[in-house]
Amino acid sequence: MKLLLHTCCAPCSVYCIKSLRSEGIEPVVYWFNPNIHPYMEYKTRRDTLKEYTKSIGVKAIFDENYGLKDFCKNVINDLENRCVKYCYRVRLEQTAKYAKENGYDTFSTTLLISPYQNHEALKKIGEEMAEKYGLTFLYRDFRQGFRQGQTEARELGLYMQKYCGCIFSEEDRYYNPNKEKKDYPMEKNITKFLPNL
Ligand code: SF4
Repeated sequence: MKLLLHTCCAPCSVYCIKSLRSEGIEPVVYWFNPNIHPYMEYKTRRDTLKEYTKSIGVKAIFDENYGLKDFCKNVINDLENRCVKYCYRVRLEQTAKYAKENGYDTFSTTLLISPYQNHEALKKIGEEMAEKYGLTFLYRDFRQGFRQGQTEARELGLYMQKYCGCIFSEEDRYYNPNKEKKDYPMEKNITKFLPNL
């Protein structure tokens, strides 16, 4: 199996890579995350992953296109459904496309570790993209290792982000005077699991 592992950030990759390696699978990490804003946050998460992958000797490929404008244009008309309708889809589709064009037969994503993402939607979109590109989507329920991975990431001193990624999740985290009236379940949940908020 030649596995391309879409990777959202270093902390989420810790358990996923360890778990795959324990199965005898050596993933190639793939960074494509136009959902992370603003740029300095994007850069910090990306550079943390660069350092981390180097330190554990895993091959990593970085698509360094920031992509802020396209992301915003594509979610602005339906912000409440942006995760499932666009954010998961664009990242998994690009991963599948890259995998197909570069000789991988299988792809997956570290997003499957988060108990706060829509796990079923990720699985469904992954399988849909696998069919579209003639690949296998390696599904694993990594959520059991979420706490362990986060603990190890903190012990390693990795940068731990304080909001999901997009500028809208950042707004909800830091500036939301009508918080009770808004209904972005993703961000509400995200704040529950991130430490020191
Ligand atoms: S909240 Fe997170 S998953 Fe949802 S659109 Fe923003 S970055 Fe993507």
